[in-house]
Amino acid sequence: MTNMSMATGPGLKPSPIRASIDLDAPGLRHGFLKLPHSSDASAWGSVMIPICVACNGEGPTALLTGGNHGDEYEGPIALYKLAAAIDLAQVRGRVIIVPAMNYPALEAGRRTSPIDNGNLNRVFPGSPSGTVTEKIADYFCRNLLPRADLVLDLHSGGRTLEFLPFAACHALDDKEQEARCRSAMEAFGAPYSVIMTEMDASGLYDTVVEEFGKTFVTTELGGGGTARASTVRIAERGILNLLRHAGILEGAPEPVESTLLTMPDEGYVVSEHHGLVEPCLDLGDPVAEGELVARVFDQRRTAGATIEYRAPVSGILAARHFPGMVQAGDCLGVIAVPG
Ligand code: ZN
Repeated sequence: MTNMSMATGPGLKPSPIRASIDLDAPGLRHGFLKLPHSSDASAWGSVMIPICVACNGEGPTALLTGGNHGDEYEGPIALYKLAAAIDLAQVRGRVIIVPAMNYPALEAGRRTSPIDNGNLNRVFPGSPSGTVTEKIADYFCRNLLPRADLVLDLHSGGRTLEFLPFAACHALDDKEQEARCRSAMEAFGAPYSVIMTEMDASGLYDTVVEEFGKTFVTTELGGGGTARASTVRIAERGILNLLRHAGILEGAPEPVESTLLTMPDEGYVVSEHHGLVEPCLDLGDPVAEGELVARVFDQRRTAGATIEYRAPVSGILAARHFPGMVQAGDCLGVIAVPG
């Protein structure tokens, strides 16, 4: 089945993406998901998305991904390292590693694909006959997610946001599934853990993974379009912890102190102005409702208005706008509530 599309039905085109390696047979294999893409640079070319599969005997399958957004680096760094170092003899079950889901975006250092401007995490479930980005989403839905029991998708803030390092899951209607996701999130062991509320859940990888009934953990581990030594270490420790939690690697997860946070809808501070940002809080700082989060200055004149943005709720600053200039509509910060 490896080089064929799974789960096609009447009227459904098969995925044009082909795996260059067997995803199911025992062994350790490195290869590519090959997506035909004809361009000026390569008439009969393909987008080559690296993939590694380590399959050894009975056990669950973990699907580990980074680079869903191309300017978020902890996930790709940790997953390329894991793929290079994984010891097949220690695996019980299967680990599928895709360090750069939206590979063209990673190569360009962009959130979205330079080929079609596609934001992979907004186009799920995708389409086999759509854009390059939609074809990647469709392949995950029809070929990789059906194989997985546990799914980890590593994100960070990208060039425009920076987060406190946290692992996250969602509040779900299926409470048994929610409990599985929550216990996997706790096993990951990031310094913070968040029960997420999405501003808009449509098109997210998260949403389709959860609709498949899978155990799902995501992260936000830093941001600013770079990685830090400390946040890469959090990613690497979390991946190993999760694989131990699933029984794919031997041993118990390393216990980690994690602070539980919730991100209420009203905790998002959105700028209504263009200008120069003065951050009045750093990540992790406590803030009381009504206290200053940031000031925005009119950079065009010295006598311009200064706009103050205040905390809509009491909590701690969990995310902040990263660049020094802000546009109307940008998220200036997110106040999360402990507990
Ligand atoms: Zn992301």
